[in-house]
Amino acid sequence: MKLRFKLPAIIFCLVFLTGNGDAQDPVTAPSNHQISDYQPTANRIIEAGRNQNDSYLKLQELCDDIGHRLSGSESLERAIEWAQQSMKSDGQENVRAEAVTIRKWVRGHESCELIEPRSMKIDMLGLGWSVGTPSEGITAEVIVVKNKEELDSLPDEKIKDKIVVFNFPMPQYSESQGSGYGTAVQYRSNGAKWAAERGGLAALIRSVTAYSLVSPHTGAMRYDAETPKVPTAAISVEAAMMLNRLQDRGKKPVVRLKMEAEDQGEAPSANVIGEIVGSEKPDEIVVIGGHIDSWDVGQGAQDDGAGCVVSMEAINILRKLGLRPKRTIRVVLWTNEENGMAGARSYAARHQKDDHVAGIESDSGGFTPQGLSVDLEDEKKEQVALRQLMEVLKLLEPIGATRAEIGGSGADVGQLKALGAACMGLNVDGRLYFNTHHTWADTVDKVNPKELTDCAITLAVAAFVIADMPQRLGDAE
Ligand SMILES: [Zn+2]
Repeated sequence: MKLRFKLPAIIFCLVFLTGNGDAQDPVTAPSNHQISDYQPTANRIIEAGRNQNDSYLKLQELCDDIGHRLSGSESLERAIEWAQQSMKSDGQENVRAEAVTIRKWVRGHESCELIEPRSMKIDMLGLGWSVGTPSEGITAEVIVVKNKEELDSLPDEKIKDKIVVFNFPMPQYSESQGSGYGTAVQYRSNGAKWAAERGGLAALIRSVTAYSLVSPHTGAMRYDAETPKVPTAAISVEAAMMLNRLQDRGKKPVVRLKMEAEDQGEAPSANVIGEIVGSEKPDEIVVIGGHIDSWDVGQGAQDDGAGCVVSMEAINILRKLGLRPKRTIRVVLWTNEENGMAGARSYAARHQKDDHVAGIESDSGGFTPQGLSVDLEDEKKEQVALRQLMEVLKLLEPIGATRAEIGGSGADVGQLKALGAACMGLNVDGRLYFNTHHTWADTVDKVNPKELTDCAITLAVAAFVIADMPQRLGDAE
């Protein structure tokens, strides 16, 4: 999941959009005229995408026929095979799997129950990379804190030998700030370490979501070398709030946590690749993609089956129209984004000599597309790329995905930034994404077919124009 944009840059971008004082610079003037020439082609792509589009069919094949796809699982192996077969039958070129070594973590059986002041099942999901508990579980009184500051303010004896519950509420989505994920996710990443440093036996975190129907949200956590490794899990928002209320009324809730989770060491996996080879500059590459792995719950439909199928379908639309750009469009479906990033690192290392012009990642769900954010190592090039993207996205006026901004791209494609590529993220309407993120409810029915189609169209138009236009994205002519 990509993080939110850099705010000062957006402000700059808005100033630039409304101002006109510095538009005279002949070196960096946008090439409106060539990019707008692509409007008839863009219209063909939009029409073809809307009339016949296999994104939703592909999503069902991936999510209903195969299901969730944790790194190292047999279902991910099947998904990797399926993606190759699907792109081959679409007629894509150079379709292949590139081997990646990942580390395999498994959840095993797990449970959490309230013992005192009454017996109750607590809905939970262990966090990725957590260690397990002893087979009899860990039974202890809980100490609930609202945040890290409250934990820091407590004396050691209040924390030692307790199960620490972090009841930090994720801020609601807002138009200006986006989701509160970046703020809340630090509790998922670091809660176990913070609890263990103070003598806690385990950490339970309030699920990272601003909306809950008793649905625990998993996700990755991390240990450091210095601190003892204690088990950690996410519990439902409702359970975290109840434990907090019980404590506030002077009760001393006791919980039993049982987890069989373990790190099983190295295992084989693969990234999947398919291409439309460029007609004039085949060695210049525009990557589009998403991650093919998911958590081991739900179907990984929004995260990130959607990103995979819209990337596959983007080049399928182009191929069916006979549109071959000058540069190569390469679909990359990365493995192991959720718990290791081995796929992205392996791809960047293996392809470091490739000439990556740009990369677009779709990993925010298949919701209504709004535009693209761009992130480039070289700030001057970043500004040129931004202006070029504004022109490219004007071609998408008919579907409304017209917003270009400076900002984060995606965890996988971001690995190409150091190689000089313009790293981009497909921005979508993010209001609902975290409601089902990393839960059993991330299923195909949460994806709207028309919204998914518009994501595929946005990728198809943007990738085609960036791969075909005379100037290289980020370069002044
Ligand atoms: Zn994702």
